[in-house]
Amino acid sequence: AKVNGRRQTCFFDSSMSRDLARRREIEAELRSAIQKNELSIFFQPIVDLATGRIRTFEALVRWFHPQKGEMRPDEFIPVAEETGVIVTLGNWITAQAAKAAAQWPDDVTIAVNLSSLQIKAPGAALGIVNALREARLDPTRLELEVTESLFLDDSEATDAFISELSSRGVRFALDDFGTGYSSLAYVNKYPFSKIKVDRSFVSGPEVSNRTEAIIRAVAEMGAQLDMEIVAEGLETIEQVTAVRDAGCTLGQGYYFSRAVPDYLAAMLLAQERDE
Ligand code: C2E
Ligand code: CA
Ligand code: CA
Ligand code: CA
Repeated sequence: AKVNGRRQTCFFDSSMSRDLARRREIEAELRSAIQKNELSIFFQPIVDLATGRIRTFEALVRWFHPQKGEMRPDEFIPVAEETGVIVTLGNWITAQAAKAAAQWPDDVTIAVNLSSLQIKAPGAALGIVNALREARLDPTRLELEVTESLFLDDSEATDAFISELSSRGVRFALDDFGTGYSSLAYVNKYPFSKIKVDRSFVSGPEVSNRTEAIIRAVAEMGAQLDMEIVAEGLETIEQVTAVRDAGCTLGQGYYFSRAVPDYLAAMLLAQERDE
């Protein structure tokens, strides 16, 4: 479960009712935001640490609110999840992301974040297959990023979803690795092609020896199990060097690029291929 960052109180005080009112407001506005064209998908590169080339873009949703300005997903995705709006929103995100990816060279893949509610919605797997078909994107070019929270309940629907899409060639990545619990049980059970080591492991300008040892162990496991290890949240060259030396093959973070609009993503790819 995600913590909303605000201090918990025992009383139903005015800040709590304000909070509730704010959530209701976000919910109502989210429902119409897609139609009003206020949402867009940005793309953040995931880079091959050996060659420096872009292998994947992660789709990250952005909401440009006419009054409130840019809203971060951490603010509205939880509301979308609690209210069920995430199903409509998620379908839209997948469709947009697939359309953008269809314009890129064949060896570049697209990663899309999935919430657990999306997976449990009826016809969830079919919705993704249809989005791929409509965009004419090969299923092997889609990677779905899931977190451990996905596996906490209702494993039947989750299992069906994962096996249906895996059999069609869609890949799965385990996101925010190292922050939940029983993670290794899921690594053992599901066919992940990637593990994304949570940003908290590289926070701070340097990576400590301790952290480096942990990343090294995860990378070794990845190599044995044929999974690639992505280091997230790389902001400095020191961090990039440390995680590469520890055995991570892929990296993502502001050191390389922030999430950018689709035309810039396409430009980054074109630039790389001209060199
Ligand atoms: P996430 O999947 O772990 O995504 C990575 C987040 O880290 C993104 O924040 C990204 O902008 C940020 N980030 C990347 N590199 C760096 C760095 O070097 N330093 C720092 N400080 N941050 C970095 P963002 O876009 O605000 O997304 C936050 C979370 O919202 C995501 O975490 C994901 O859980 C959720 N989210 C975003 N887009 C979607 C979506 O389309 N669908 C769903 N279900 N969730 C989404
Ligand atoms: Ca992610
Ligand atoms: Ca992550
Ligand atoms: Ca996250």
